[in-house]
Amino acid sequence: MNELDLLAAADARALTYTAGVATRRVFPDAGALAGLAAFDEPLPEQGMAAEQTLQLLDERGSAATVVSNGPRYFGFVIGASLPAAAAAERLMLAWDQCASSFDNSPVAATVEATAARWVLEALDLPRQSAVGFGTSATACTLSCLAAARRALLARQGWDFDRDGLIGAPEIKVVVSELVHITVKKALRVLGFGTAKIIYAPVNALGQVDVEKLPVLDDHSILCLQAGEVNTGEFDPFAQLIPKARASGAWVHVDGAFGLWARASALAPLTTGIELADSWTTDAHKWLNTPYDCAMAICRDADALAATMNSDAAYSSASADAQKNLTLEFSRRARGIPVWAALRSLGKQGVAQQVERHCRQAQRVAEGLREAGYEVLNRVVLNQVLFRAASAAQTVAVREALQATGEAWFGGTVWQGRPAMRISVSSWRTQNEDIEALLGLMSELRG
Ligand SMILES: *Cc1c(COP(=O)(O)O)cnc(C)c1O
Repeated sequence: MNELDLLAAADARALTYTAGVATRRVFPDAGALAGLAAFDEPLPEQGMAAEQTLQLLDERGSAATVVSNGPRYFGFVIGASLPAAAAAERLMLAWDQCASSFDNSPVAATVEATAARWVLEALDLPRQSAVGFGTSATACTLSCLAAARRALLARQGWDFDRDGLIGAPEIKVVVSELVHITVKKALRVLGFGTAKIIYAPVNALGQVDVEKLPVLDDHSILCLQAGEVNTGEFDPFAQLIPKARASGAWVHVDGAFGLWARASALAPLTTGIELADSWTTDAHKWLNTPYDCAMAICRDADALAATMNSDAAYSSASADAQKNLTLEFSRRARGIPVWAALRSLGKQGVAQQVERHCRQAQRVAEGLREAGYEVLNRVVLNQVLFRAASAAQTVAVREALQATGEAWFGGTVWQGRPAMRISVSSWRTQNEDIEALLGLMSELRG
């Protein structure tokens, strides 16, 4: 098979897969999982046919996917892929750009600059901010926290790039008690030390308690969050951030999915968030782009650019080239699917998508209560946290639901007891899908 025929065959298989996402099992059955044994081959001595390789990947692989790109996946705020974003991604694959700088890809640099401008506008964040399109909220949080530390040390006359950490003034890190694990990971990787992290107590809703905020100073980084993974709650930014910044601290906000509330009628949840120094968000969650698509946003553009700079004699670029704002040197043009998603939705479409998911989450909560479950959160966003009568029943219901293959959501532990969490974040999810889920949940409760 020649290249074009092979790519056409891949496209045909991809189209068949996409056409089936509404009817496939959401989690593969035992037979499909057993079929994965076909991949346990020795590395071939001689190359195998590309066509047969594609066939294996589709026949055994497609069957063993979790259909998070479908309408009835309610785990982890994963989202599906919007058609415009998925289509842009397909074309980008053909281009195979190394989107590090204008010289390597004029089109990527241009489109990503527009995407950056649109993201700041959609999220109503300071327009002078730098936007680095990185692989994940994890990587982007790492970038932002590295910039924060470098800037705080520079204000104290310490040259972090030259002198590193040994002997440097100590930087205090304060995070919410309900901080996301990936923020802790970023801090750990950066060398802050998990035992040195100070936890800000949260109130009954899971928001950082303003009255109990630990003392901050100009050696401090405060990490807040927009959208807690279980409850969807937001920290009270308008009260916390001015206080923190007045003491000279750097404020970072993890808004992996929740920041998108700001692009909708739910924006009041985020009031004051614009006063922070840096923000992280994902496009691959609530904006519904394909994976590896997140943003590090930094009010002081130079702070991020100086931290992430990777210019060399053979490879120099502008300060705002993406390779100088992200961890990657060679990189995909991650901002292009963001641009395509925003262009196809427009400001109104983004708002409507967010608002629809929040309404659907309200309906989920209402239906679960009617079916006799206990809803544990206020459902301010697209997250519903709930449990059945006992811990054992909670686990049993979740496992039974997952086994149906009709829908999928995950479990968690909330205030020491098992709970279940439903996230509504796929553009494909229609009200019928919500009713179908509620029908199943009602049956399972018996
Ligand atoms: C998913 C998530 C992250 C991590 O995002 P990745 O893109 O998966 O690295 C961080 N914080 C919150 C609140 C999240 O939901």
